[in-house]
Amino acid sequence: MLAQLIKEGKKVVVFTGAGMSTESGLPDFRSAKDGMWTKYDPSEVATVDALNSQFDTFIEFYRNRVIGVNEYGPHEGHYILADWERKGYVTSIITQNVDGFHQEAGSRHVIELHGTLKEVHCETCGKVYSNKRYEDEQYYCECGGPLRPSIVLFGEMLDERALMEAALVSEGADVFLVLGSSLTVSPANQYPLIAVEHDATLIIVNQGETQYDAFADRCIKNEKIGDYLRRIQAELQE
Ligand SMILES: [Zn+2]
Repeated sequence: MLAQLIKEGKKVVVFTGAGMSTESGLPDFRSAKDGMWTKYDPSEVATVDALNSQFDTFIEFYRNRVIGVNEYGPHEGHYILADWERKGYVTSIITQNVDGFHQEAGSRHVIELHGTLKEVHCETCGKVYSNKRYEDEQYYCECGGPLRPSIVLFGEMLDERALMEAALVSEGADVFLVLGSSLTVSPANQYPLIAVEHDATLIIVNQGETQYDAFADRCIKNEKIGDYLRRIQAELQE
């Protein structure tokens, strides 16, 4: 179905969630199965409160996550999406992920709803540094302020510009393709609806059910994202 729509010249907006990253091998920090993450409750550690009053725990948690995103990288699915952007099939990627894998694979128009773990910045003066600082256990800015990952913590507002841009590209989508998100977290869950209200075709590729399955023109549950994208890529080349 997707290959056919692309062949007809329809423009695709892609929305990616945790399922996209876990296929790279990156542990989902929300999943209790993954050993080291059981030590922390992200809803307590990934917060403004922890940044301000439990900085040691905060940096231990985020140093591990930074090492994770630096150790893993894009999988074939990320590269296929980048290829589709170059060919004009994909106009934008909206992502809940903070690992930067889409950009690493070559995608250019990526809207990161929750920021990025690829950079850290000074909470006091805003100066931006590579996340290597965290790997090297350097947690303070030259001004003396604490360095923090450039992601949205619990207790912080999402970036207004990213939200607006995501809504705008969703309105303009001919096809809205969800990859590996259960679409439960706000505001992520608004975009498929915005797209459908503007007559987009909705395709959802996700292992579990989502609350938008009933609105979707097609739901794919039993196929990995990478396999799905590879299959569509093959159909496009027929
Ligand atoms: Zn500073």
